[in-house]
Amino acid sequence: MSGHHAPPGLGEPHFFAHDHDAVVAAGPPESQRLHLSGVLLPQGERTDLWVVDGLIRTQPVRDAFTVCTGAWILPGLVDAHCHVGLGAHGAVPREVAEAQASADRDAGTLLIRDAGSPVDTHWIDERDDLPRIIRAGRHIARPFRYIRNYAEEVEPEALIDEVARQATRGDGWVKLVGDWIDRDAGDLAPLWPADVAAAAIARAHELGARVTAHCFGEESVHQLVRAGIDGIEHGTGLDADTIALMAERGVALVPTMVNLENFPGFAAAGEARFPAYASHMRALHARRFATITAAIEAGVPVFAGTDAGGTIGHGLVGTEIGLLAKLGGAEFALGAGSWRARAWLGAPPVADGAWADLVVYDTDPRLDPDVARTPSLVILRGSVVSR
Ligand SMILES: [Zn+2]
Repeated sequence: MSGHHAPPGLGEPHFFAHDHDAVVAAGPPESQRLHLSGVLLPQGERTDLWVVDGLIRTQPVRDAFTVCTGAWILPGLVDAHCHVGLGAHGAVPREVAEAQASADRDAGTLLIRDAGSPVDTHWIDERDDLPRIIRAGRHIARPFRYIRNYAEEVEPEALIDEVARQATRGDGWVKLVGDWIDRDAGDLAPLWPADVAAAAIARAHELGARVTAHCFGEESVHQLVRAGIDGIEHGTGLDADTIALMAERGVALVPTMVNLENFPGFAAAGEARFPAYASHMRALHARRFATITAAIEAGVPVFAGTDAGGTIGHGLVGTEIGLLAKLGGAEFALGAGSWRARAWLGAPPVADGAWADLVVYDTDPRLDPDVARTPSLVILRGSVVSR
C-alpha cells in the first residue's frame, strides 16, 4: 500500500491512475482522495471528478476511492436564509448551534447565508466539518417590534450607527426587520421611516455591506426596494411594480416557502387581540404562490432559504427546493438552492482547483425535486461528511 488510509465505510480503493495519466502531487497520507462519476448539474453531462486536499480536480488522480458512479452530482446546497445560534427564545449555547449547523450539513447545505443571529458563530469558521457561513450580524429591529431576544433593538435615530456596527460584525450583509405587528395599529407596519432606511442602506453600501430585510406586508417592501435595498426576505407583500423594480435592479428575493406555511398559525395566535393583523396574514398566505411565482416569472433572482432557527427546524433545504419547484420547475428550484445561489454569494463553480463542496444523489433530482431531501453523499472541503 502506498501509505494512505481508507476513509471509514468507503470500501476498497480503486486505482485509476496509469503511468501516462496526469497525477496531482501526493498530499498527506491521511487525506482523502476521492473519485466521483455521474451527471454533473447544471451542465447535465456525464462527468468524472476527483478530489484531493479539499479541492476538485478534473484530471485523474492516483489512489482515489470511487465514492459514486452513475450518480447525480450538484455543487453543495445553499440555505440562503438560516439562523445558526438562534432558538425559540433567542441565543442558544454553542453545542446547540453546532447541532443546528450539523443538521444543515447532513441535508446537503454546505453554504449558509445567516440572516441574523444573537451570538457570534465565527468559531464555526475553524471547523472543517461544518458549513461555510456568510453572516448578517444580528437582526436590527425596534423595541417591542420583533420577537423578544432576537434582535438588536434601536429607535430610528440610531439605525444608521447600528447598521454600521452590524456591518462590521457580519460577513458582508446586514439584516433589518422591515415590518412587524404594530400593536397600536393592530396590523403589520414598517419599522423604519423610508428616508431613515434609505440613509442606513447607503451607509451599509459605503462600508461594503449589502442589506436585506424581513418584509411580510406590502408597505415595507414597497419602501425598502425604492430605498435601494439589496435583498428581500419573505416578500409576501410584493406587487407587480415592486417586482418589476427588483428584476430591473437585481434585488434578490428569498421567499422562505417553508416559513410561509406558518402564516395561518401566526394569524391564529394574533386573532383575539389583533383581528386585522390576523386577516392580513391570511390574505398574504392565500396569495403566496401567485406572489412568488410572479417574481420568478419577472426574473427576480430568487433563492432557497428555509428560515431555520428560532422555531423552524434545521436541515429542511430539500423541502424548500421542493416547494420552489412547484412554482418555477425543478431546474429552477435546484439552481435556487445550489449553483445560482452559490454564484450570487461568491462561491466558485465546480471547476479544477475549486472547493470540493458537493452533494450527490442516487436518482435525478430534475425528475423529482423531492430527491433533494435525501442526498446519498455529502462532501465538504473534500471530505465525506455525511452518507
Ligand atoms: Zn429569519
